[in-house]
Amino acid sequence: MAFELPKLNYATTALEPHIDGRTMEIHHGKHHQAYVTNLNNAIAGTDAEKLSIDEICKNISKYPVAVRNNGGGHFNHSLFWTLMAPNAGGAPSGDLAKAIDAAFGSFDEFKKLFAAAGTTRFGSGWAWLILKDAKLAISSTPNQDNPLMDVAEMKGIPVLAIDVWEHAYYLNYQNRRPDYITAFWNVVNWAEVDKLYKNAMDKLLKEAK
Ligand code: MN
Repeated sequence: MAFELPKLNYATTALEPHIDGRTMEIHHGKHHQAYVTNLNNAIAGTDAEKLSIDEICKNISKYPVAVRNNGGGHFNHSLFWTLMAPNAGGAPSGDLAKAIDAAFGSFDEFKKLFAAAGTTRFGSGWAWLILKDAKLAISSTPNQDNPLMDVAEMKGIPVLAIDVWEHAYYLNYQNRRPDYITAFWNVVNWAEVDKLYKNAMDKLLKEAK
């Protein structure tokens, strides 16, 4: 079964003015589609065709670089679209808010550190909020790597991510990556981040039993 481009849960223009429609159209319809097509080509006729994208990422060191780049691209973008929503932003609540305070001191401090991870990632890559050893942590990865990959410097379960490739912001923000990251806070889908955090905690608890 070949991998497919997931549909967006909102119109490409729904995140304006923070993320413009043209960027969303090209980012989802062209960039993400290319990762899907190239991933399918790279795994055609191999056992990886039977695996989930998560399973492929977890053992990514076993695969050719085309699988790492395009498999990572597919996983990362599929997650990224769900982490944004129209009429979103604001702040997390409940257990997630408590976990953020526990790990970083405050929500504002967390935002600073997460933005710094995105701003200082040289070239193309991603910044992440991950669950690592039952605690939240911030990391960043180059290219289309992600914290699920066995090659990642800091491994964990992703709960929030921002794409800091220029293709994610250049049309609207040109070289101003920090402005794009600031705008991102207005579209973060905290309900989804909360769900991912709960699922990740449940998974850790089950594994510990
Ligand atoms: Mn991208």
